[in-house]
Amino acid sequence: MTYVIAQPCVDVQDRACLIECPVDCIYQGNRTLYINPSECVDCRACEPVCPVEAIFYVEDVPQQWAHYTTINAEYFQTPSAQQDEPYVRDGDHRLIARLPPQTSRKKDIAAFSIRKEEAADADLWFPS
Ligand code: SF4
Ligand code: SF4
Repeated sequence: MTYVIAQPCVDVQDRACLIECPVDCIYQGNRTLYINPSECVDCRACEPVCPVEAIFYVEDVPQQWAHYTTINAEYFQTPSAQQDEPYVRDGDHRLIARLPPQTSRKKDIAAFSIRKEEAADADLWFPS
């Protein structure tokens, strides 16, 4: 079993999950990150730190992103000689490489980071 990174990570890549993973099984592409299913130890450390809720246990991946289980797995596979197209193109799985820019999500993350900074300042002035 494994955890899976789905569509909300595309063009966000704040790398919070990468820092948390104790076995370094999360790898960065050009536009998203990928979990290697043969290295993931199901510890769940990555899932709660993702600001856009892009990480799911494999059995809980929402239906609309079910193909991301395959995308994460294929990113680490060597294509067979019979295949027309390799899995990885321009540093990403070919289906990720074809996605249009997800720029609105980047703005969401910027706002999220600012809110976190404001919260840290508030803690400084009003210690609990
Ligand atoms: S569940 Fe644990 S081992 Fe698997 S990717 Fe997340 S942090 Fe890494
Ligand atoms: S924490 Fe979430 S958004 Fe950030 S890199 Fe990991 S999966 Fe992508």
